[in-house]
Amino acid sequence: MSDHALKGWSSQTPARWSILVHGGAGDVPVAKRPAHAAGCAAAVERGRAVLEAGGTALEAAQAAVVALEDDPCFNAGTGASLNADAMPELDASIMCGSSLRAGAVCALVGFKNPVLVARAALERGQHVLYAAEGARRLAHEAGFTEVPPEELVTDAARAKLAAALAAGQAKNWAGGTVGAVARDAEGHLAAATSTGGTAGKYPGRVGDSPIVGAGSYADDQLGACSATGYGEGILKAVASYRATALANDHGPRAAAEALVTELANRWTAPAGLILLAPDGRLGWARSTASMSWGAAWHGGETLSGY
Ligand code: ASP
Repeated sequence: MSDHALKGWSSQTPARWSILVHGGAGDVPVAKRPAHAAGCAAAVERGRAVLEAGGTALEAAQAAVVALEDDPCFNAGTGASLNADAMPELDASIMCGSSLRAGAVCALVGFKNPVLVARAALERGQHVLYAAEGARRLAHEAGFTEVPPEELVTDAARAKLAAALAAGQAKNWAGGTVGAVARDAEGHLAAATSTGGTAGKYPGRVGDSPIVGAGSYADDQLGACSATGYGEGILKAVASYRATALANDHGPRAAAEALVTELANRWTAPAGLILLAPDGRLGWARSTASMSWGAAWHGGETLSGY
């Protein structure tokens, strides 16, 4: 097991619509945790507005992740971690549980909202995962404006890179990958995840976040999941798919706990998972010191924590 006690939460009751977001498993300094929880609550509000207006789970999960990408607290979009060459190379995925369509981009440079480019890949329907230069071309074809990569770089990301390089680590948590799972009133599910990956990563390194089944998964019949933590382990364990497969029978919290425990023990991968069961119940588990989160469901208030 990892250094930190397993922690989890569940909403307990089925819900007409529901949404759960995370702001990354890791070890965010205690003083910064309330800001991360507030960012998650704001993202949930965006998703809630979509769902209350009768929008789809896919739109809600996407809206929540865009809000988190735009919040410089998090390791996604603006404020994302930098690779060893001090470049933000961004990964994102999104999946629709009713159509089972998915879109993803990896090692994308120069776009503010990678989850929107992933969504464009989903809508295009030709391939699931686009990398580097091809992802860039797809983004242009879909009408997105390229920005100078420096516009996405924050002082905090530079400081994290310096710390990672000084420590001589190939892997280092930034503690702020983002993700969302949602169910709409029609009973359809969706999941989305976005990240800059690990600070100081080798250029071209791709983690779990853009890999369908590892970083994100959604299937109306099974559930929806977004993962965060040590990506190499999450990827090999195919964690998001396996967690959703368990969520249906065991409930989302127990399923998240089972996978997070296995990730820590078998794959040396401290991690956190957010999960949604087909009936709208939400749950998360983490084996790291922190994972900010936010949740809402039909008839309930917005909750958040870390
Ligand atoms: N899983 C992400 C990656 O390995 C990082 C994270 O969740 O913090 O790229």
